[in-house]
Amino acid sequence: MGFGTVGSAPDQVRVDGYDAFFARARVKSGYSGTATYVRSATARPDAARAQAFVDLPPGTAGLSSSRLHELDDEGRAVVTHHAGCVVVFNVYCPNSGATEDRAQFKAEFNDTLRAAMTLEMARGHAVVLVGDLNAVHDMRDMAYADELPSDWEPSSTWRWLDGLLALPQDGGLGMVDAFRALHPDATRAFTCWNTQTEARLANHGSRIDYVLVDAVLAPAVAACWIDADRMGSDHAPVVADLQLAALAPLPRAPPPLASIYLPELAGSQATIDAFVAAARSCEPAPSSLPRPAPKSKPKSAPASKPVTLRQFFTPHAAKPRRPATLPPPVAASPATRAVHNSTSTMQAWTQLLKPQTQDAVPLCRGHREPTKRLVVNKPGLNQGREFFICARPRGPRGDLRWRCSFFLWASEFKAAVRKRHRPSPATIDLTSSPPPKRARPLGRESPN
Ligand SMILES: [Zn+2]
Repeated sequence: MGFGTVGSAPDQVRVDGYDAFFARARVKSGYSGTATYVRSATARPDAARAQAFVDLPPGTAGLSSSRLHELDDEGRAVVTHHAGCVVVFNVYCPNSGATEDRAQFKAEFNDTLRAAMTLEMARGHAVVLVGDLNAVHDMRDMAYADELPSDWEPSSTWRWLDGLLALPQDGGLGMVDAFRALHPDATRAFTCWNTQTEARLANHGSRIDYVLVDAVLAPAVAACWIDADRMGSDHAPVVADLQLAALAPLPRAPPPLASIYLPELAGSQATIDAFVAAARSCEPAPSSLPRPAPKSKPKSAPASKPVTLRQFFTPHAAKPRRPATLPPPVAASPATRAVHNSTSTMQAWTQLLKPQTQDAVPLCRGHREPTKRLVVNKPGLNQGREFFICARPRGPRGDLRWRCSFFLWASEFKAAVRKRHRPSPATIDLTSSPPPKRARPLGRESPN
């Protein structure tokens, strides 16, 4: 549960059975704030923080480090990490206000929020954005659409929200608006009304509160609705039901630098033992070495057995999946020990560690399948740049039988591959490990 505009003291808003995480304005008390409530028994986060932008390097969105802190100082975001893989941004985006300063603040907050979401996605996390975005991007979502002047043009906020929802190959983040995805034809579905004009009575409002989910999570959205009859605020709650067990066949994708994204290891995560054993197959196989298993379809998990969120998101790194075509690890018999010391071992390592060629492609995030390389033809800044997208055909967004939202510039992939082969601490930074448990307490004491 996410709340925006929280001004009350924490003891007034305690809820039994839930952990609560608050962000409060450090600049003007009671001015703004957000709160996230998480059911303790089932979804306790791995980490939580009251700043959305604390991780971002200076220069993000063209802003200095002190400006990034200023954007965080109004308590407009609570960020929680769940099951090592899902990051929930609960935000209260600024409104335009009356002054140019506030309009600037709003634009910078929004741009920086997008940068923070992009960073989490690059770390292999699935992002959920909930809250009052103070933004509309669809005529159907505002009752006053027919009152707009004839020279009306989409605002920068409108285009910003468009950008969060646009497909990655079109320059967007590929987020999915849970309500609109399930109710594509809904009209007059508003979440906010002007209290001064009592506009709620006539349902003359706008839809500015959202649950946006990463495209990878879109198939899990079982329901989403606006609880328009619930009073007590000028906003109505938006409720989304994500059935993460429904995603069971879709494993958590490791972050972009994981070796499974390299074509020679695609989908295999072979141990060096298996690799060496396979490399020897042209030599007479000693009877002690197992033969490669015949090709067969990989066993899929029984569809009837639902899994829990934690089971589903348990990191897979400790138990790599092995394709049926690779032999199991070889027991250390004298014969195999000899192999380890032979030149074929050296060759195997060399092969494994050599820099990637032009042919290398990453795997897509949604399916972990090899992507296809394309070139931007549209005239503009990016014309001629190469990029990778999911190789599947395009279908309805969020339906993972079709193209997922994966997008990566070829230059970024090349840089990531190059970095991976340079034995420096930087490679550790980039291989984002799951967040440490309870590492960063939430609150004013958090490191700034
Ligand atoms: Zn894909």
